[in-house]
Amino acid sequence: MITTYIGLGSNLLHPLEQLRNAVRAIAALPQSRLAAVSTAYRSRAVGPGEQPDYLNAVLRLETTLEPGQLLAALQDIERAQGRERSVRWGPRTLDLDILLYGDALIDSPALTIPHPALHTRNFVLYPLEEVSGPDLRLPAGDRLGNLLDQCPRGELAATGLHLGQ
Ligand code: AMP
Repeated sequence: MITTYIGLGSNLLHPLEQLRNAVRAIAALPQSRLAAVSTAYRSRAVGPGEQPDYLNAVLRLETTLEPGQLLAALQDIERAQGRERSVRWGPRTLDLDILLYGDALIDSPALTIPHPALHTRNFVLYPLEEVSGPDLRLPAGDRLGNLLDQCPRGELAATGLHLGQ
């Protein structure tokens, strides 16, 4: 089994329900075991125009799916929850990102792992710490706790809301 971390985000159509449904769907993936789910965090949208706030979370999934298979499965879940893809960085019902896949470093047209936003985004790093602890090492050697020291919480709000499982 490979330990993977998946980021979840939603800012449309009842984000809390979107995240809870996504957690259920990910828990049902073949060759996989859902190991931990963070609570939900509220963050300001990054992107064009006025957008509703996001809810974000991170989960830890043990899997034997290959990275490409995992990406395809996550995209199926995004589609099933009616993801709107018309505007780049626009509002979305559900966004699922593979943040880490074991120690893999992947840079292909379809997949960049670690996810490029991982190191700098508070709405990724804080929920990630909940499910990994601060001693997690990224493939390049950075310790998560050190990245957090350099990443202010800012307007990120811990809701304390649980997503099930
Ligand atoms: P976005 O609309 O920002 O969610 O980007 C979706 C695209 O990002 C998909 O077509 C994926 O092929 C690509 N992508 C690259 N790296 C990753 C990753 N680590 N996790 C999820 N999608 C990725």
